[in-house]
Amino acid sequence: MIITPGSDLLYLTGYNAIPLERITALVIAPDAAPFMVVPRLEISTALASPFGDTGWDVHGWGENDDPYAIIRERIPSLNGAVLVDNHMWAERVLTIQKEFPQASIALAAPILAEIRMRKTPYELDALRDAAAAIDRVHARVAQVLRAGRTEADVARDISEMIIAEGHQKVDFVIVASGPNGASPHHEVSDRVIQLGDPVVVDIGGTMPSGYCSDCTRTYSVGDPGSAYRERYAALQLAQEKSTRAVSNGAISHDIDAAGRNELESHDLAQYFIHRTGHGIGLDTHEEPYIGIDNPTVIEENMVFSIEPGFYIDGVHGARIEDIVICTANGPESINKQTRDLVIIEH
Ligand code: ZN
Ligand code: ZN
Repeated sequence: MIITPGSDLLYLTGYNAIPLERITALVIAPDAAPFMVVPRLEISTALASPFGDTGWDVHGWGENDDPYAIIRERIPSLNGAVLVDNHMWAERVLTIQKEFPQASIALAAPILAEIRMRKTPYELDALRDAAAAIDRVHARVAQVLRAGRTEADVARDISEMIIAEGHQKVDFVIVASGPNGASPHHEVSDRVIQLGDPVVVDIGGTMPSGYCSDCTRTYSVGDPGSAYRERYAALQLAQEKSTRAVSNGAISHDIDAAGRNELESHDLAQYFIHRTGHGIGLDTHEEPYIGIDNPTVIEENMVFSIEPGFYIDGVHGARIEDIVICTANGPESINKQTRDLVIIEH
């Protein structure tokens, strides 16, 4: 297995390496101790990471060395399957293929996802911290969201709050007002927020631990009207039903169906145009996914979002998103801010 900088390397070694044109790679082979090949100028950073404490070798390579020759020398029998991380640059994959013509290249993901999807107590706490940080941001959204401001203005303030509340990095800020709420991945625009607009606010960042937050709440600037309130109430019920369907042994598909069927009974299922959720950890989107026809069996310590929504083209939309841990006793929603429609009166 050859793993280059990214969340898999961070997960396996604790080394949060920057992807550079000079290759850094963790090499794991059945008949040798794991080792890293690292550009010589990165050695001290690599050794300062938790990998440095393992006693395994960090093999520096200089400007005139061939890092692939180092791997070949250390693992002369490299001719079976070579598993590479999902995010490896295509350039590297093609070079590996050329350097090791006997090897067949495949993705490491099926193996790594099996490990990464079951969180350790340390990871669960890191995700709870991330959720608490984004909750503190949602608690402050009403201070900056008002009629007359543009989505971009509001998003700028929210980005600052994401950092102020403990994240190291802002990953995304969606402020989707009025008809823009009907586009699930609308980010921001110069649209001026109007009185009576529902506003979907979906935000997330990465904590210093490397773990991610992701939480959606829907706000309304003034009264959105009775039709919207009714749809929102149905969505809230759907989100609760999917959350309640989470248990050790539940099937991903059934968790999705619990909410989708609720929306169906309110004639809203046709407007719920995406899967119910995604796993979260060092990546915002990772295994397990929660969706239609997904046979994944959910187990204790898996963590994923439950985020149904409705999107009515040209009119409005809504989404409610919590990150949920599957515990031995059922679901634990780690986002605690109210899921009610938050009406902002200024
Ligand atoms: Zn999400
Ligand atoms: Zn989200």
